[in-house]
Amino acid sequence: MSSRIIGIDLGTTNSLVAYVDEATGLPRVIPDADGRPLLPSVVAFTPDGIVVGEPARRQLARRPADTVYSVKRLMGRGFEDVKDEARYLPFRILAGEGLVRLAVGGREVTPPEVSAVVLKALKERAERHFGESVEKAVVTVPAYFNDAQRQATKDAGRIAGLDVVRIVNEPTAASLAYGLHRLSEGVVAVYDLGGGTFDVSILRVKDGVFEVLATNGDTHLGGDDFDRVLALWLLEDIAARHHTELDRDCVDLARDPEAMQELRLAAEAAKIRLSSEERTTLTLPFAGFTYRREMTRADLERLVEPLVRRTLGPCRRALADAGLSAADIDEVVLVGGSTRVPLVRRRVQELFGKTPHSQLNPDEVVALGAAVQAHILAGGITNMLLLDVTPLSLGIESLGGIVNVLIPRNTTIPTSAREMFTTSADGQTLVDLHVLQGERELAKDCRSLGRFELRIDPMPAGMPKIEVTFLIDANGILQVQAKEQRSDKAASIEVKPTYGLNEAEVGRMIEDSFTYAEADVETRMLIEARNEADTVLVHAGRALKQGAHLVDVAERAAIETAVAALRAARSGDDRDRIHEATTAVNRATEHLAEVLMDAALKGALGSRRATEILGER
Ligand code: AMP
Repeated sequence: MSSRIIGIDLGTTNSLVAYVDEATGLPRVIPDADGRPLLPSVVAFTPDGIVVGEPARRQLARRPADTVYSVKRLMGRGFEDVKDEARYLPFRILAGEGLVRLAVGGREVTPPEVSAVVLKALKERAERHFGESVEKAVVTVPAYFNDAQRQATKDAGRIAGLDVVRIVNEPTAASLAYGLHRLSEGVVAVYDLGGGTFDVSILRVKDGVFEVLATNGDTHLGGDDFDRVLALWLLEDIAARHHTELDRDCVDLARDPEAMQELRLAAEAAKIRLSSEERTTLTLPFAGFTYRREMTRADLERLVEPLVRRTLGPCRRALADAGLSAADIDEVVLVGGSTRVPLVRRRVQELFGKTPHSQLNPDEVVALGAAVQAHILAGGITNMLLLDVTPLSLGIESLGGIVNVLIPRNTTIPTSAREMFTTSADGQTLVDLHVLQGERELAKDCRSLGRFELRIDPMPAGMPKIEVTFLIDANGILQVQAKEQRSDKAASIEVKPTYGLNEAEVGRMIEDSFTYAEADVETRMLIEARNEADTVLVHAGRALKQGAHLVDVAERAAIETAVAALRAARSGDDRDRIHEATTAVNRATEHLAEVLMDAALKGALGSRRATEILGER
């Protein structure tokens, strides 16, 4: 068995795997066979099997109900926690008690199972790279993840066949990657704005020791929200400009999941282009018309400004918790794809009064840090120590529903705390212990992590001495034990998170993942071929609809024959035949595509002719 430990950034939008290169001592991201470092955290449940990464992302628009993205937002959470955002997700989230369940591809899955598919793909990527099996990983999570969310991440690892030897906060990992390059002394602010979450951490770096002084953030804020406001704005604009066509065809785009998904993807692409360009053109073909619009960076900034501002409050709160002011910060590190947005950089720079550090790739910095942590654990680096903090206070409910805090937030972990409790009634034999996480005074306002009962001998009220011990390990995962000291009988119990998976469930999921893995390997290529065929069929259909009158009868007949052949091939299981038929359709429609492009260009150059042609058909 290999002793190798890989570092994994399990992201909301994209995930990466990295390791430390023994030759150079530097962390490196492992790319896929095509040289792509990022694996989109998207999993599609198709009738033929499970597809992950780029092929799954490509079919988002076509199979919105069976394609899961942003699942990190659902990890370790219950239906009540996510029902607001569930409205924006095109796949079905089932109402019910306990851990959230999704209904996709004709079956029920939990978020850890979906994440496990992503982890497994990264594990296999690493195994191909090293030519040996890999069983251990360090996985990163947002600093704000609570106990249940961390547990869910560990469960995902187990389902994927990975022992998650350490869970590290993402900003901590980022600073670790950064520290490896510059072992200076000072205070670092790590600002991490990804696809779905925002974190900020204040860390002190001294003599190779990283100490997290404070963390803060918002688990519901990220680039996905930028895309959403932009997509809604586009939707209004389309409705205003094309209401005639929409009314004529009785189309309500807002109620069409496929159209909304296309819109979201187009919005994201435009947002990304506007990070490096001042203006961009959006072109979206719909059934009866083509929407085209010029957008400037200023337009985008106006829309996302309130979202960017929402990140500044947590930054100020983290500074206050660390007992520091902005002037005390020596370095600012940017993490996450959304920090490429120029407005984000400007606002961060204004707040901290420093030019943010951008030497490391913001997409890769967390994975690189995870690899460094993995290297430390494997014994490769000995002059570095990692100290993390617990982001929320932990306590026990006592009489009257009051929270008794045992471990206050921002306590350096691993840590433990002990406190004595007693009973309020004579002859009480059952003591109910309710473990809570949060900053509020009353139990009802805090998050319930779990309940357990302790059986004791009957005694007068106030006599039993019940010692409750909280133990947080280096992963930030909590164990609670209770012991009655006066009687000989003692009991100690481990708390399970309210939204955790039980052993039997994890066992079943591991089995399932093996069953489906076999199907995956065999069918992935076939599914990809079918996906490509579907895309080509949609494009060919659209081109014929828009421009059939622009080509002669023979050409049209050739296209129709090729399309019919591809449809026939697609319904079978012969991958080569599908590939050949796809290529044939591409070849047959080449000329028509050029003619349409010419027509569209003429339209764009002033005459409205192309738009009229496209619109009328
Ligand atoms: P992460 O969760 O760190 O992978 O970040 C993903 C988010 O970053 C997504 O919302 C992307 O749309 C966004 N993103 C990636 N590249 C860029 C870019 N160049 N400009 C703006 N946003 C980007």
